[in-house]
Amino acid sequence: MEYSSVLTTCTYCGCGCNFYLENLDGRLTGTIPCKTSPVNQGRLCIKGWNAHEFVQSDQRLTSPLIRKEGRLVPVSWEEALDYTASELAAIRSEHGPDSLAFLTSAKVTNEENFLLQKFARAATGTNNIDHCARL
Ligand code: SF4
Repeated sequence: MEYSSVLTTCTYCGCGCNFYLENLDGRLTGTIPCKTSPVNQGRLCIKGWNAHEFVQSDQRLTSPLIRKEGRLVPVSWEEALDYTASELAAIRSEHGPDSLAFLTSAKVTNEENFLLQKFARAATGTNNIDHCARL
């Protein structure tokens, strides 16, 4: 049997708790809270304790999806980004910048949240930007 543990940061929310993911023979088998982390000091909430499960769930999305003829179809990131950019541009052109709205996530970094609000305001011209923590 091959065992290892890897120190990482929880991706469930913006707190940034640290834990070790346990790897046994190539499968993640558990989560151990990091006692030296100044953020969580050896504690985790229930989501963090179970973080090893979603990583290897067979229900996890592994590529972008675009609805085509009523069905969600896996596509490349390039196709998804081109499609999204052209749709946003068309909506903005037809209805104005305030017809767009952006919702950021607690599951991304502060820097990524900053970038999305910058994109919303500077690139598309709308102040319609909010965060899932306010829902
Ligand atoms: S363990 Fe819980 S509180 Fe800590 S980052 Fe993950 S979801 Fe947030």
